Amino acid sequence: MNAQEIRRAYLKFFEDRGHKIIPRALLVPQNDPTTLFTGSGMQPMIPYLLGAEHPEGKRLVDSQTCLRAQDIDEVGDNRHTTFFEMLGNWSLGDYFKAEQIPWMFEFLTEVVGLDPSKLYITCFIGAPKYKIPKDTEAAEIWQKLFQAKGIEAEVADIGSEADGYQRGIKPGERIFYYDGAKNWWSRNGAPETTPVGDPCGPDSEMFYDFGTPHNPEYGEHCHPNCDCGRFMEIGNNVFMAYRKEAEGKFVLLEQPNIDHGSGLERIAAAANDNPDVFKISIVWPIIAKLEEISGKRYDSHTASMRVIADHLRAATFLAVDGVVPSNKEQGYVMRRLVRRAIRFAFELGVEQNFLEQIVPVIADLYHDDFPEVAQNRGKVIEVLVKEEKAFRQTLRKGLQQFDKLFAPRYPELVSGSSPENMPATVEQGMPKQVRHDGDAMTHGESLFTLYDTYGFPVELSVEEAFKRGIELDNNWQQQFDAKMAEQRARSQTAAKGVFKGGLGGQTMQHKKYHTATHLMYEALRQVLGDHVVQHGSNITEERLRFDFSHPDKMTPEQIKQVEDIVNEQIGKDLKVSYAEYPTKVAREEMGALGAFGDRYGETVKVYKMIADGEDKPFSFEICGGPHVDHTAQLAEGGKHFKILKEESSSAGIRRIKAVLV
Ligand code: ATP
Ligand code: MG
Repeated sequence: MNAQEIRRAYLKFFEDRGHKIIPRALLVPQNDPTTLFTGSGMQPMIPYLLGAEHPEGKRLVDSQTCLRAQDIDEVGDNRHTTFFEMLGNWSLGDYFKAEQIPWMFEFLTEVVGLDPSKLYITCFIGAPKYKIPKDTEAAEIWQKLFQAKGIEAEVADIGSEADGYQRGIKPGERIFYYDGAKNWWSRNGAPETTPVGDPCGPDSEMFYDFGTPHNPEYGEHCHPNCDCGRFMEIGNNVFMAYRKEAEGKFVLLEQPNIDHGSGLERIAAAANDNPDVFKISIVWPIIAKLEEISGKRYDSHTASMRVIADHLRAATFLAVDGVVPSNKEQGYVMRRLVRRAIRFAFELGVEQNFLEQIVPVIADLYHDDFPEVAQNRGKVIEVLVKEEKAFRQTLRKGLQQFDKLFAPRYPELVSGSSPENMPATVEQGMPKQVRHDGDAMTHGESLFTLYDTYGFPVELSVEEAFKRGIELDNNWQQQFDAKMAEQRARSQTAAKGVFKGGLGGQTMQHKKYHTATHLMYEALRQVLGDHVVQHGSNITEERLRFDFSHPDKMTPEQIKQVEDIVNEQIGKDLKVSYAEYPTKVAREEMGALGAFGDRYGETVKVYKMIADGEDKPFSFEICGGPHVDHTAQLAEGGKHFKILKEESSSAGIRRIKAVLV
């Protein structure tokens, strides 16, 4: 079966078992400002897995297009792409393990026709600390299925991934128990880090054994979760059976869910019995075209061709979904993907426009299965070709400037440069000797100017310098970073000016409402959940107004809970203070809250509101201020926090108006 056939067969298989086929969600999430892209089939299903009723019922199936920009550095290996399709089926409180496991086994072995002796399985080992048992139920179901095919399938304990590399696998073993880092699903990983209030549960992953020799660089012994490439994870079945009620306490859900996701490209690779996902029917034609355009062979230019094919497939779907290249958010990622593909094409010797030839090949691959690709074909080609032209223009200008900037130190360059020359060809006639005569602008500064003013990528500047025999200052990177930091500081100062103006004043009343907004934001997240993200805030002398993501109208009880929490925190007289942190640390390590769409510089100011004697702040939020010094000030004159109104602001966004009275 080829990839298109596998996709269709999967949808049909589950449709025959009572599932509604639902359309894929767009690559840009519509009601979830916390992430740029849809990265799994489960993501658009979260509200329903959390209990909201799905209009199409309790059994659903789809093929979800996914984009994982975070996997960009893994593209080039045999099995990762930034863009891929995830085949998913869900039971929303309907069937469970006893149906899901046999269905998947049947689909893989009977429908796709995979050899069962090449399938390996992992299950959850249990967490005695939290009274969560080992998932023997899943392991036994799998074992019986293998036995029915005449395969003994012994079950073995592994534990952690590290244990796997030490222990390896023994003959006859096929089903392995791993710990919470590998076989537990929640929105935030293992049982320890599962968010309180969230559903979660053990999962069971399916691997295909390509039988390639183990590469000991990854660890001593091979095991299913080894990354050497012998075993490829093709899919994951999540048994969402628990809810984390409090730290360390997990309770069984009355109506557990199934959440299954398999990589279409990977199943197709397994069906080919070839570990290279780029050889499958929905990718190979792109590579074949690249071979034709470049006259180079995939075998000798594997990594570059993989990157180009992946990035252009991703960019094509982004264009289908309405994204256009720009300098922010999704558009920025798209621009990066397109430009990176063009840069990698240089390595194939392709220096002329080529997207016009490649994009139609990609569109054809999806033409029959995703009608929106067919409908938007013309527009998609136009958007991508336009970006290619813009980038080549940038490159040309950058090259001219490169020569101008370096001329004072390398006078020979001026005569040797020509705007028509593209990067790989300009080296002819260039001096090869190294000169250092200490000019006004350092190398790092020149590269920064090229990047900042002309958009010329730093990687290309470095290559150009190398080609021209210019030995860059050892510390060019530091020089470059220093200029970058200066520029950020300038734009932040400018932004602060805007912010201050926008606030329209800083009276005591403003400060109080500003502080109350932080308390309420945290309270909303505690009452409604972590999906609550600020979408806007407006403060006057009279009231605060706050927009946030949440799918439903708040109930009177929820409103009351939020008011109570805020008043309680006002009563506790939290101390309000702030400190600056590197943005990455504040966001990723310390979990500081932010607002949707806000862009941050290198460092951010974070406001902390904490009660005396407590070590965890109640609120920890990125913000420019200003605030009161301690929260009891909000209660001055016997005032209380009260929500006046809770209403819809736009799709998926609620608006609250609240006062201190
Ligand atoms: P891996 O460890 O291989 O990166 P993962 O644990 O990130 O996979 P999941 O998040 O469980 O994968 O996603 C479910 C399925 O989606 C995987 O079993 C795999 O088949 C597929 N998948 C995940 N990431 C990619 C990718 N970058 N390219 C292609 N398929 C992928
Ligand atoms: Mg991954």
